[in-house]
Amino acid sequence: MRVAILGAGFAGLSVAYFLIHYKKGAVSIDLYDPEPIGGGVSGLSSGLLHTYPGREARSSWRAEYCLKDTHRLITVASQGVDQSVIISKGILRPALTELQQTAFKACSEKHSDTEWWDQKRCVDEVPGLYLPEQSGGLYIKDGLTIDVQTYLQGLWQSLAKFGVQHHQSAMIKKSDLERYDQVLVAMGPTSKNIPSLENLPLTPIKGQILELEWPEGAVPPKMSLISNKHLVMSRDQKRCIVGATFERDFDSTQADQEKAASEILPNITSFFPALEKAKILDCRAGFRAGTQSHLPLVGQASEKLYFFTGLGSKGLLYHAWVGKRMARAMISKSIAHLPSDIRYTLSF
Ligand SMILES: Cc1cc2nc3c(=O)[nH]c(=O)nc-3n(C[C@H](O)[C@H](O)[C@H](O)COP(=O)(O)OP(=O)(O)OC[C@H]3O[C@@H](n4cnc5c(N)ncnc54)[C@H](O)[C@@H]3O)c2cc1C
Repeated sequence: MRVAILGAGFAGLSVAYFLIHYKKGAVSIDLYDPEPIGGGVSGLSSGLLHTYPGREARSSWRAEYCLKDTHRLITVASQGVDQSVIISKGILRPALTELQQTAFKACSEKHSDTEWWDQKRCVDEVPGLYLPEQSGGLYIKDGLTIDVQTYLQGLWQSLAKFGVQHHQSAMIKKSDLERYDQVLVAMGPTSKNIPSLENLPLTPIKGQILELEWPEGAVPPKMSLISNKHLVMSRDQKRCIVGATFERDFDSTQADQEKAASEILPNITSFFPALEKAKILDCRAGFRAGTQSHLPLVGQASEKLYFFTGLGSKGLLYHAWVGKRMARAMISKSIAHLPSDIRYTLSF
């Protein structure tokens, strides 16, 4: 079975891994991407992995299955680079508003993998955190922060051992695609550039992050913090990433530091004041593939053309489990393997 995968982000690499896993020795995979591994949006993401996103920390779609398969790929990636790809364990969500307090407390009462920490506990665990006295935070015990560049490199190394080829070039010509038995489009929001996929209900959502120099004397938090915006330490603890913007209307695809700073920093410094004067080292922008349901989008566009996109803000959480289902669908040539609530039907 000859497979071409267009896009070497979380989605494309995950499907490649599961195809190899199920069809070892009986599948050859060519991975096409104009960027090097880690050069796309997946490599720019902040690496947050947890199942209680959003303002109300509601448990995400198929949380348990998704988390389990992402953990599996984290192990594969760590073996691929012979080092852990995990930066930190546990995630704290400081509650800055009454709505967050109510929602986060309710979450902790419902889900045993979370705890409500009062203000004192939060500040003891994360020196430098500012919270009003009556407030607190939601501690997500199995939340992880992943070093996404190392993760992508690790997955890639594991795939390369099985003969997967990476071609650093954009979409191949229609005539080239004929050489393959199956083709997967996993190009994030640009999946719509493929002629038969132009009607996919995808919205590009611009996201920007700032890289800040860690201020001298401030204690680096031992876990990532997410209120409305997030704060993630670098491995060397000399820098941190704060993000992200969520822009549906944008004039430019380029990073806009002024805009990013005005949207991100007020929220971050309201719970971590030591960052008020931190030097901005860089500003980066990328595009999420948004869907109306906030769920991934998978399906088949012709006998041999499949698509996997719409990972939105939760690429790390969704890519492995959905990628596994996509690999099964491609092998069996049956979209029945794709979860019906994220399957998008295109007539062909
Ligand atoms: C600022 C920001 C922060 C984020 N933080 C997090 C986070 O903390 N946790 C989390 O889970 N998610 C996060 N996300 C979301 C996450 O990055 C995405 O969900 C995920 O990267 C999507 O993966 P993908 O493989 O579908 O797409 P992409 O990573 O966009 O990969 C698509 C690939 O297709 C390639 N491509 C484009 N055109 C072609 C072509 N013609 N032929 C071949 N290849 C092509 C691109 O170069 C790209 O590498 C964040 C997103 C942003 C923007």
